Amino acid sequence: GEPGTRVVTHSGKEPAMCDCIFCKIANHEIPSTVVYEDDRVIAFDDLNPQAPVHTLVIPKKHYADITDGVPAETLGAMAHAIDEVARVKGLDKGFRVISNKGEAAGQTVMHFHMHVLGGKDLGEGLI
Ligand code: 5GP
Ligand code: ZN
Repeated sequence: GEPGTRVVTHSGKEPAMCDCIFCKIANHEIPSTVVYEDDRVIAFDDLNPQAPVHTLVIPKKHYADITDGVPAETLGAMAHAIDEVARVKGLDKGFRVISNKGEAAGQTVMHFHMHVLGGKDLGEGLI
């Protein structure tokens, strides 16, 4: 919407001045391929997949990155969502989870997210 439009996050707890693409995905204001969703988190397929399975897990409430005071309950909900993604996507042989923080890490969307990557042999190299 317009810059400065008041958007209520899906959690309904805090109205926020938010022009964040992932907040809009969390609110179902813009479409995504949803893999898993509950009260706190949503998981959806990445628009530009880097592996056969590339799903993003985000808190519905806006945090800039993993260091932005994310509550333990939310982090636990994200771990649960990752497990659900692995089940839905059949990642029984394993997968990789990555979270970029800041420009040196190449973070492009400033709403905390975890990448779940899998569906092929990712090898032993971390990056
Ligand atoms: P980052 O580089 O910030 O860790 O990752 C951001 C990710 O979000 C990228 O992999 C990018 O492809 C994905 N992305 C950016 N915009 C959208 C979008 O509108 N929809 C979806 N599904 N993924 C997006
Ligand atoms: Zn956001």
